[in-house]
Amino acid sequence: MPWRLLVAAMLILGYLANAYIPRTSRLIGGLSSVRASSTAAGRRNAKKSKGDEAESALPFKMEDLVNLCKRKGFVFQSSEIYSPMAGFFDYGPLGVELKNNIKKLWWRDMVQRREDIVGLDSSIIASPSIWQASGHVAGFSDPMVDCKESKLRFRADQVFWGKLETVDGQEACYVTVMESDNMLDVATTAAIKKAKKAGVAGPFKTLKLSDLTEATAEDYPKIPSPATGEPGHLTPPRDFNLMFQTSVGAMSDASSVAYLRPETAQGIFTNFLSVQRTARMKVPFGIAQIGKAFRNEITPRNFIFRSREFEQMEIEYFIPPEDEAWPAFHQTWIDNSWNWLKSIGLKEEFMHKSVHESNKLAHYARACTDITFTFPFGTQELMGIAARGNFDLTQHGTSSGKVMDYFDAAENRKYVPHVIEPSLGVDRLFLALLTSAFSEEEVEGEKRTLLSFHPAIAPIKVAVFPLVNNKPELSALARELYTTLKQRYMCEWDVSGAIGRRYRRADEAGTPFCLTVDFESLEDNSVTVRSRDSMQQVRMKIPDLLPFLSKEIDGFSL
Ligand code: ATP
Repeated sequence: MPWRLLVAAMLILGYLANAYIPRTSRLIGGLSSVRASSTAAGRRNAKKSKGDEAESALPFKMEDLVNLCKRKGFVFQSSEIYSPMAGFFDYGPLGVELKNNIKKLWWRDMVQRREDIVGLDSSIIASPSIWQASGHVAGFSDPMVDCKESKLRFRADQVFWGKLETVDGQEACYVTVMESDNMLDVATTAAIKKAKKAGVAGPFKTLKLSDLTEATAEDYPKIPSPATGEPGHLTPPRDFNLMFQTSVGAMSDASSVAYLRPETAQGIFTNFLSVQRTARMKVPFGIAQIGKAFRNEITPRNFIFRSREFEQMEIEYFIPPEDEAWPAFHQTWIDNSWNWLKSIGLKEEFMHKSVHESNKLAHYARACTDITFTFPFGTQELMGIAARGNFDLTQHGTSSGKVMDYFDAAENRKYVPHVIEPSLGVDRLFLALLTSAFSEEEVEGEKRTLLSFHPAIAPIKVAVFPLVNNKPELSALARELYTTLKQRYMCEWDVSGAIGRRYRRADEAGTPFCLTVDFESLEDNSVTVRSRDSMQQVRMKIPDLLPFLSKEIDGFSL
């Protein structure tokens, strides 16, 4: 059950009944009826405790990364020459390389190098029946509130309120703040000021903050709107479906309504039997897919962390249905995912695991563990690994009338397999890799900005420089080397400025190796190889370069 849906449903029910009761008892009292309508949209995870969103202690800010991305051509705001639309981004020359490398390595390690996983590329727009069956039409939503005065809309779980009381229990005032790392300080200062203005003297109890979904009927009318600062302006939380609608065909009426997929997973479930039969896969096996997903997020924020158009890399790993089967598969996928993320350069000290509390899971889900990551704005979900039972296949079987049974020839039995779902966002991983790689240091009195990407992830693998640009024989040799290496890797040709400047530019792009062709090269067919992280330089014969680069970048030499 999606937490946000559950709470919103409870709040609305509470309003209708005009009887707010404490949140926990509402939850228990209404659980069965709400669960009856619970959906696959439950993958929109249960809210984690505040501790999961701990303030980041990184020595740089989000704006450092955003500025670097813009300056170097990793990521641009979409439609920048008009007024940019929030939640959409364009990936520039370096960004598209980084993104392609992420997807290429994931595909290599999850599909190419395994025997038990095959790939799929399903359509973005598909029958709306899929989203009816999965539950996304009914329940893929966030609770939101409108300010009736300012006409602004807020996500209810991002607006925090507090009631200030004197130590002897007298109500002083209510305050509202938007979620932020220092919201308690901001709210406390504002509340004390407000109380004093109203003539209420302290001492006061410590202020406690809750989000709007946690407000009781008694509190709600007194909570000020974050837009106007006045109480009574906020509507009750209402569900807002996150799917983008479109229409298919020439006619635009109810029958032509379709949706841009909010996740890639459902395309895997609907193709389960076709893939299993054509690829002759035997349980346990997986189907992997990389593709765009679209969510009309109410508050897209934190750069590419939460956007409205993003890419997912998802696997549905089908397993036997027995209750004792899933825990080991689930654990294996948690370990695999953790190790893979490390192997492509995520810093382990920024990685954490967050296990979903069992009472907040969707009713069909067995377990879910998120791998969270410390971004500059705090620690948040990077990917989820869920044990989802056989909910999705069963729903599609019932809804389509098609049999979703897998026939196990070895055991001569039929069953609907259960599934483990590792689901990872390409854009979030992109941001996590940037966070892991970014640093600033001083070298010989000058600032050096460095992106120390793993060579396999780095957008440009090699930069080739002739030492000077006015010696044709040097340029010719350097150009020949550049053209040769470019057949195999993304390479950069840079002739402008002193060598030191060129190194800095390459460091900022995350290029792991710079090759300088100098006068000695003409004599001995060797070049200077400079490593980005250590800044060390070694001489290497030109014929040795490809085996060296291949070992460093691909992990093996041909
Ligand atoms: P969140 O709780 O942050 O909204 P979610 O639990 O709804 O995420 P899932 O539905 O489990 O996310 O999607 C799987 C993965 O897809 C996430 O772990 C994340 O990496 C990525 N993802 C989800 N929503 C977005 C988004 N709006 N922008 C970028 N990536 C996203």
